Amino acid sequence: MSGASARSRHGEHRRSGELRVTRVRHTERITPHMARITFADDGLAGLHSNGTDQHVALYFYEPGVELPRPFTTEAARALLPVAKPRLRRYTIRHHRPELGEVDMDFVLHGADQLASGWAERAAPGDEAIWFGPGPGWSPAPEAEWTILLGDETALPAIGAILEQLPPDLPVSALIEVADRAEEQRLTTRADAQIEWLNRGRRPAGQLLHERATALSAPAGRGNVWGAAEREVVRALRRHFVEGLGVARADTHLTPYWTRGETQDSEV
Ligand SMILES: Cc1cc2nc3c(=O)[nH]c(=O)nc-3n(C[C@H](O)[C@H](O)[C@H](O)COP(=O)(O)OP(=O)(O)OC[C@H]3O[C@@H](n4cnc5c(N)ncnc54)[C@H](O)[C@@H]3O)c2cc1C
Repeated sequence: MSGASARSRHGEHRRSGELRVTRVRHTERITPHMARITFADDGLAGLHSNGTDQHVALYFYEPGVELPRPFTTEAARALLPVAKPRLRRYTIRHHRPELGEVDMDFVLHGADQLASGWAERAAPGDEAIWFGPGPGWSPAPEAEWTILLGDETALPAIGAILEQLPPDLPVSALIEVADRAEEQRLTTRADAQIEWLNRGRRPAGQLLHERATALSAPAGRGNVWGAAEREVVRALRRHFVEGLGVARADTHLTPYWTRGETQDSEV
């Protein structure tokens, strides 16, 4: 599977991912409920970039499953009839090829939840297996504006997208987080207005839903990128595509999690 490639809708090369057996090198609590985990492996020096919001699938096997070594994509496939991993999707926040390192940021939403709990307890030296990166979003180059919408699960992707948008592009971002302590400093060359929505005691997504569905689209052609809880994303799609008439091809709206359901039910 490794090495296959395809062209994105805007002509960039997109390669399919491959299985990576990495080690946790470093962990850091960047805000009270966000853990940054640095994964390291010599092979990560050659990790190809799939652009903006590229993500990977972390593999979680049941404890006690003996993995064949070396553990490759083919070995994982051969193991499927005996042991299926549970998959959880996470965004590549930074890639430092010179150090063979990748950072991913994990929302800590419950110590008893699979990926979140793993991230909360992760320590240097722990093994972490993941497949990727999957193709990232490629914004239409002719876009005159961009709107970015998300909750904290989308914050790593929004951070990565902002770093890659062209200088001076007008950008409006609405980002819902639990409270002020969860806000992050984001850097960009774009002309970005970033508005933080602190949910306080409201249900997750309510504030983002209210504020995003009150937005209008600026004049000209633009991109709308959004990721959050599934129902919020549905509402965003209705608002921007059906309500405001933004071309479906210029929107990239992805459910990142579903209330009351594990990601097992989605993959
Ligand atoms: C393409 C993609 C990229 C993603 N990138 C990131 C990323 O970089 N960082 C990140 O933190 N997340 C990211 N997510 C979201 C993440 O994959 C989900 O939140 C996932 O469900 C977490 O797995 P879990 O094992 O902790 O919880 P699960 O076992 O999947 O779910 C357990 C319970 O927790 C609830 N739940 C799941 N996530 C949350 C949440 N954030 N807040 C409150 N309740 C929740 C579920 O509704 C369920 O009831 C991404 C998702 C996708 C599809």
